[in-house]
Amino acid sequence: MTDKLNESIEDLTQNLLKNIGENPEREGLLRTPHRVAKSWEYFSEGYRLNIDDIINNAVFKEDCSEMVVVRDIEFFSMCEHHMIPFFGRCHVGYLPNKRIIGLSKIPRIVDVFSQRLQIQERLTSQIAETLMDILNPIGVGVIMEGRHLCMQMRGVQKQNSFASTSSMVGQFRDSAETRNEFLSIINLKQF
Ligand code: ZN
Repeated sequence: MTDKLNESIEDLTQNLLKNIGENPEREGLLRTPHRVAKSWEYFSEGYRLNIDDIINNAVFKEDCSEMVVVRDIEFFSMCEHHMIPFFGRCHVGYLPNKRIIGLSKIPRIVDVFSQRLQIQERLTSQIAETLMDILNPIGVGVIMEGRHLCMQMRGVQKQNSFASTSSMVGQFRDSAETRNEFLSIINLKQF
């Protein structure tokens, strides 16, 4: 993020502090606008990252035809309606079609789309679509389970509720057997 953008986020934060009835000049708050700007630089990093750079040629030819699953990927994102965090776990599976991706790249893809203002539904489908684009696999399944602080802190829903979203593409959509295999792998542990 540019210095200018950082400065304007600092100004906005100073204003916010005044508007909620705080004194931005008191000691504990003096550096808060700076810290908030730094935090938002990180929360919004996904806008400045490019998927191709992240994949960085880590796609390999392989005759593997078994389902590949990475489960319990932690994610943190910001709800676009309230700019308040939602976070949880993401499970990703795909059926390769002669191409696989380095396993560590899958959580990186989750991060790129999480570090933007999001709704969980779109975040889920963007991860699935990206894997379809990169790998042209036989199918992709993505399930996300998130706690939304905009609901929990504002008392809209019970404290312990999760929002579940899924995106099933190709054989994951067409075949109950494939879907069930995916679900049974990620269900090994309670989530
Ligand atoms: Zn919200």
